[in-house]
Amino acid sequence: METVKFFDYPMQFKEFEREYIQIVEKTLAKGHYILGPDLELFENSFAEYTGSRHAIGVGNGTDALLLSLHAAGIGPDDEVITVSHTFVATIEAIVFLGAKPVFIDIANDHNMDVERIEAAITPRTRAIVPVQLNGRICTKMDDLVLIADEHDLVVIEDAAQVIGAKYKGRAAGTFGKAGCFSFYPAKLLGTFGDAGAIVTDDDDLASRLKMMRNHGRGKHGDVKLWGLNSRLDNLHAAILNFKLSFLEGWIDRRREIASQYEEGLARIDHLRLPPSPEENGNHYDVFQNYEIEAKEKDKLIEHLSENGVEIALPWGGKAVHQFKPLGFSDVKLPKTEELFEKVLLLPMYPSLKIEEIEYVIDVIGHFYDGM
Ligand SMILES: *Cc1c(COP(=O)(O)O)cnc(C)c1O
Repeated sequence: METVKFFDYPMQFKEFEREYIQIVEKTLAKGHYILGPDLELFENSFAEYTGSRHAIGVGNGTDALLLSLHAAGIGPDDEVITVSHTFVATIEAIVFLGAKPVFIDIANDHNMDVERIEAAITPRTRAIVPVQLNGRICTKMDDLVLIADEHDLVVIEDAAQVIGAKYKGRAAGTFGKAGCFSFYPAKLLGTFGDAGAIVTDDDDLASRLKMMRNHGRGKHGDVKLWGLNSRLDNLHAAILNFKLSFLEGWIDRRREIASQYEEGLARIDHLRLPPSPEENGNHYDVFQNYEIEAKEKDKLIEHLSENGVEIALPWGGKAVHQFKPLGFSDVKLPKTEELFEKVLLLPMYPSLKIEEIEYVIDVIGHFYDGM
């Protein structure tokens, strides 16, 4: 085995090269570039896939967060409860609206610890943004919704990493006012560039979001509210329409890979693995990533690298509050900080071969057996 890649970008194209070329030719020849029929089809299909009344295609997942928070009325001096174990995009969206992110710590599954929400609520709290990471919805998601209702808070889900995941049978992105998705190339459903979507059951919110992503313009070009330019390109929508039909199969494959990792790695006491892919439990996880905690992480990474296994550190190895220039140096989150001392991501994507996973398991086993 020469190398096991962390993610295989060229393979994204190669897998269906001819079909993609055909889609591009057909779409470009028709002149359907902006807000075209492929986008409308994708919005309908994606709404149906998530069981939502509406899906609104936007430029990327970050804009999905920014626009839905703004459309939900979040603005200057509002407090938004969220986590620091996330991509900076989640926090960016809050900060760019002039609102204040209030970080709470994570639970054992690396997602928001729902039991810490109530202690963080102040008279200024307006919203909760749970980040459903690595393909898993927060444990106790129904409690989160109850707390939000009780305190009259808006829930906007960062669902960028959980397309297709479920909790108690309910789809990711559908627990609150809006759910925000990303189609960045490495995401579960990725295109060949940037794209995102918002899902919601709220008709009024949906119609405002449709205008907001297009300069606040209504059907006939009249400007109805302030917006910006954040449309999901029709060409990306055409590609996403094609890919959406494969998504369930890709999720099955990711769950099989997670089972194979678990079978091979569970015996190692120095590791903490993500929850198993349950069949009939509360969670249906889709394994956007396989995020593990490892003792002697740095040495393990060195050993993996020497043996040709590529891994990644989530977001370069830091939680958002740990990036000094962002100004959160007074924030203390012991569980999040402890996690980042041990955390790494193993290769996880549908085209990964059984022998490659076996090899990763062997290399890790060899490292700890020698300890
Ligand atoms: C990818 C991602 C985003 C942002 O999505 P983009 O499409 O890259 O803007 C936001 N939050 C999380 C958790 C993500 O993983």
